[in-house]
Amino acid sequence: MNFEDYRGVWVFLEEKNGAVAPVSLELLGAGKQLADKRKTELAGVLIGENVGCLAQTAFEYGADKVYLYDDPIYRFYRTETYMQAMLACVEKHKPEILLYGATSTGKDLASAVATDLPTGLTADTTQLDVEEDTGLLLASRPAFGGNIMATILCKKYRPQMATVRPKVMKALLREEGASGVVVEESIPIREEDIRTKVLEIVRSTAKHVRIDEADIIVAGGKGLGGPAGFQVVHELAETLGAAVGASRDVVEAGWIGHHHQVGQTGVTVTPKIYFAIGISGAIQHIVGMQNSGLIIAINKDPAAPIFQACHYGIVGDAMTIVPMLTEAFKSV
Ligand code: FAD
Repeated sequence: MNFEDYRGVWVFLEEKNGAVAPVSLELLGAGKQLADKRKTELAGVLIGENVGCLAQTAFEYGADKVYLYDDPIYRFYRTETYMQAMLACVEKHKPEILLYGATSTGKDLASAVATDLPTGLTADTTQLDVEEDTGLLLASRPAFGGNIMATILCKKYRPQMATVRPKVMKALLREEGASGVVVEESIPIREEDIRTKVLEIVRSTAKHVRIDEADIIVAGGKGLGGPAGFQVVHELAETLGAAVGASRDVVEAGWIGHHHQVGQTGVTVTPKIYFAIGISGAIQHIVGMQNSGLIIAINKDPAAPIFQACHYGIVGDAMTIVPMLTEAFKSV
């Protein structure tokens, strides 16, 4: 493999509700720093139906170029179709680094692409850097239960690929009117050759605010005793217009669904305000919420580790304190 042939930093531009997904904008911000260090270009790969207009957003957030696969066959995300487009693009244009958001789509696509390329994939990274001279990507992620940061290198192969957790990188400030180059690409791909068919899209009707997008998260832990006790979390969240988060033990107990889980094996969140209620503060939980703007912990044990990680702590029974807070916020 001749490394000289591989140039540029790429970001898979995920489309979400007709716009470029926030995580892709964050990756453009991170990718720009890597590209500047390597004195190379930053490109996005956009796959979908009628998505050409989104290239402009990518330019305004730092991309120099967008590779565009625009075809009705890409209307819905399907591993086979998106993977074929990405593989063709990589084989033709040879990026040095290729980043994907660690979303359901990004994780699925990245791992599928990695199975067909002679390279690896560092999953779920939270820090990225690059060696200026060698172009070696330094992709770091928590390991061994969050106790260490492991930096994973791909020394022998290109492209170097990583999925990156949402909300850990910073998007650049939007530069309205910025321009770049759109490279329109297509591959011979026929619907009858694709094994998966999308029969229907059923959208979630839940009104709950998503934890990865929320400004305020009210998260509850095992200390709430059970689903009935956990109601106090829902009530406070509803009063504040907040999302509901949970520890893994709560999710495993079935009090709430997995997409509410915060932490190492859940979602990394960075809201402005994070309430940790009846949560002990295990490292695997802390790594998922430690970058929140303001952390408020409520726990009846003054020695609970969560008090080492919070800005404000209230020692007491959550079943008394949380309803009082809810009432107080209602009257504001
Ligand atoms: P507990 O540890 O049981 O804590 C309950 C707390 O509630 C205690 O501090 C107690 O003092 C307090 N309490 C009790 N009653 C009250 C009351 N009435 N009022 C106020 N406080 C009260 N965990 C995650 O959260 N997210 C992850 O992503 C995650 N990933 C993991 C990955 C691995 C590989 C492993 C090994 C573990 C992972 N865990 C994760 C689990 C983690 O180690 C902890 O077991 C878990 O976070 C504990 O959940 P908890 O704080 O709700 O429960």
